[in-house]
Amino acid sequence: MRILIANDDGIYSPGILALAEVASEFGEVRIVAPDVEQSSMGHAITASRPLMYRPTPINNFDAYRVNGTPADCVALGLFHWQEKVDVVLSGINLGTNLGNSAWHSGTLAAAKQAVLFGCRGIAFSTPVTRDEPDFSTIKPFVKQTLELLLPQKDLTLLNVNIPVNAQGIKWTRQSVRHYDGKVVPFNDPMGREHFWFTVIPVEETEEDTDRYALAQGYVSITPLRLDLTNEEELARALNRDLQPQSNKTL
Ligand code: MN
Repeated sequence: MRILIANDDGIYSPGILALAEVASEFGEVRIVAPDVEQSSMGHAITASRPLMYRPTPINNFDAYRVNGTPADCVALGLFHWQEKVDVVLSGINLGTNLGNSAWHSGTLAAAKQAVLFGCRGIAFSTPVTRDEPDFSTIKPFVKQTLELLLPQKDLTLLNVNIPVNAQGIKWTRQSVRHYDGKVVPFNDPMGREHFWFTVIPVEETEEDTDRYALAQGYVSITPLRLDLTNEEELARALNRDLQPQSNKTL
C-alpha cells in the first residue's frame, strides 16, 4: 500500500513524524508537506507563482517540502509518485479540527484534495495544551483507527480527532454552531491598534457530533463529503417560479 502524508503544520512538525511512523506499519510512506506552517489556509491553492518540490529526508522517511499550501502538497505529491497512491493521510494536526474548523482547516483540505484527485483522504488532529502532545499515547489510536478505516474503501473522506487518553472510538457527524464573532481590539508595543476575533460557539454541543465525542473522551471519526448542496433547500427552490418576485411581495 502506498501512503502519501501531508499536513498544514509544516514538514518539521512532530505530528507529521508521528503519523508517518504509524503509517509505515501499513505500507510504503512518502511525506510531502509545506516548508512552513500553513494552518487555517483552508483549501487554498497557489496559482500565481511557481512551486518548488525539494527533498528533505525526515528520520529516514522519503520526504519533500513544498513552498505552498497543504492542497498544493497533495497535488504535487500525487503527481510525483508515479505509481497510484492508495490513501492520503494528513496531520497529525496540533489542534483539534471539529465542527466549523472544516471550513478553514488546512489539515482537512489536504484530505479533501486527495478526494478531488480520485484518492482517499483521512485527516488526523489532536488537542494541544500548553505542552507538546504526548504522541506515545496518541499513536496507538492512530494505528487502531487506520486498522479500522483502511479496509473500508467505500469510506473516502474522513475527519479523525483523537483526544488525550482516549477511551474508545465513536462515529460522529460534524458539529455546526454559530460563533460569537466578537472583535477584540488591542494595541501593539508601538501603540498601534490591531484586532483579534473570537470564535466561541454560542450554542451547546450537540450530541452525536465530533465535538461531543471529544468532550466525552472518545476518538471521533466523521465521514465527510465534498458536495455542499443543501438538498432540502434545493428541493424547495425547484418548486418555485424562476421569475423574480415583484417588489410588493418582498
Ligand atoms: Mn495546523
